[in-house]
Amino acid sequence: MVVSLEKNVPHQVVIIGGGFGGLYTAKTLKKANVNVTLIDKRNFHLFQPLLYQVATGTLSPADISSPLRVVFRKSKNTQVLLGEVNDIDPETQEVILGDRTIPYDTLVIATGANHSYFGKDNWKKFAPGLKTVEDAIEMRRRIFSAFEAAEKETNPELRRAWLTFVIVGAGPTGVELAGALSELAYKTLKEDFRNIDTEETQILLLQGGDRILPHMAPQLSEVGKVSLQKLGVVVKTNTRVTNIENDLVTFKQGDKVQEIASKTILWAAGVKGSAMGQVLANRTGVECDRSGRVIVEPDLTIKGYKNIFVIGDLGNFSHQDGKPLPGVAPVAKQEGEYVAKLIQKRLQGQTLPQFRYNDVGSLAMIGKNLAVVDLGFIKLQGFLAWIFWLVVHIYFLIEFDTKLLVVFQWAWNYITRSRRSRLITGREALEEAKTVNNSTNLVTKIANPPTQPTPHSKLQSYTADIKAATY
Ligand SMILES: Cc1cc2nc3c(=O)[nH]c(=O)nc-3n(C[C@H](O)[C@H](O)[C@H](O)COP(=O)(O)OP(=O)(O)OC[C@H]3O[C@@H](n4cnc5c(N)ncnc54)[C@H](O)[C@@H]3O)c2cc1C
Repeated sequence: MVVSLEKNVPHQVVIIGGGFGGLYTAKTLKKANVNVTLIDKRNFHLFQPLLYQVATGTLSPADISSPLRVVFRKSKNTQVLLGEVNDIDPETQEVILGDRTIPYDTLVIATGANHSYFGKDNWKKFAPGLKTVEDAIEMRRRIFSAFEAAEKETNPELRRAWLTFVIVGAGPTGVELAGALSELAYKTLKEDFRNIDTEETQILLLQGGDRILPHMAPQLSEVGKVSLQKLGVVVKTNTRVTNIENDLVTFKQGDKVQEIASKTILWAAGVKGSAMGQVLANRTGVECDRSGRVIVEPDLTIKGYKNIFVIGDLGNFSHQDGKPLPGVAPVAKQEGEYVAKLIQKRLQGQTLPQFRYNDVGSLAMIGKNLAVVDLGFIKLQGFLAWIFWLVVHIYFLIEFDTKLLVVFQWAWNYITRSRRSRLITGREALEEAKTVNNSTNLVTKIANPPTQPTPHSKLQSYTADIKAATY
């Protein structure tokens, strides 16, 4: 039986999603004369830009997460509900949450985006993406397990595959992952293994377009590329991945088709709108773009429904320069703040001019003392950019929860290059361990040290190492 929650007065705002968009909507409404219900399927807000640091063992999941109840402890007009919304009824103005319906006067949908494998969903199990805490823990398991497996592997070809990491997609996530992997393999883990030289590790960054960090100025893309190359990362642009299967990536550069054996393939390419986009399309007839993002009006509402807003990664706002705004945190944050202000204006019988995004620039961390920052009017690189990156991230992290611990963690890592969050966890990890324990054969083989490794600095061009084939 469907039970309705008692309808609250005065104005009832329901927000689905406590990511950047939903969080800033609710925060901006905290002193407004409205009742806010914030629904999220997780009980925490996740600071996604630092997920790669969890995946590569620098930070722990809790370092980049803030419990929503803590964030809104002092917002007396806000109630937080844990649950996944799978449907809404725009006619009766209700959100359906399990066996309950929650009435709204205004609905804000901020459920974000998921990975897109461009229709090749079977690649997902071979090349996990990075979007949730679970994704980061799975990536961390694969990365650290790969070094462990290489340590035990006596077959040089297999060992090479274990020590080959392929990252698909060279936006900020791909670049930051590549930089962090380089630091990990060539610095942090250097002294920790006995049978392998982690400098043997190959890190490939594959990018379909003609430059990495395509949202940044071309000169910063070039700086990023050269910096990564200096760190030992092989950067391949104009490279389209045509197949991913267990331990093998096939890619095409021009007419040349190549294959590389890798036990760790990481996905940092496309995104698509979350499932709520399709629910909304079915329920209201609103149009979605090819990436499943909901086309929104200039005031971030959807066509025909002045009381339904879609913000953040799920929305396609193209009213500024004809192109959709990028799926980045500042867009979601500013949209959330705008919607909160518009709701309050409307309650006073007024309105606001259309939403305008104030581009605050973009940044990407490449490695120790190395980052690129594009603020439009000013472009920074190297150490200065790195300091800027740190300040911005610390500011964002402490804005809604005290994360001074992260600052100490970073300082400690900076000095020691250590990564303390290297836990290999999960059911698969236990299964892998069992397999190893049962394999006396393997234990015997480990007694024979591997052949002399080649440090990454002395590796010949990786093209010599990959099996080239022309189809
Ligand atoms: C790895 C990674 C790195 C990034 N790096 C940067 C960066 O450096 N700089 C930058 O500006 N941006 C970065 N981004 C993008 C940025 O994180 C997003 O643009 C931003 O989080 C979008 O905010 P949002 O509120 O739209 O969605 P999200 O932050 O994704 O939040 C969506 C929320 O909705 C909840 N939810 C989803 N479906 C439901 C449902 N049906 N019912 C209930 N709850 C639901 C989710 O649990 C989640 O809490 C990065 C993203 C990723 C994944």
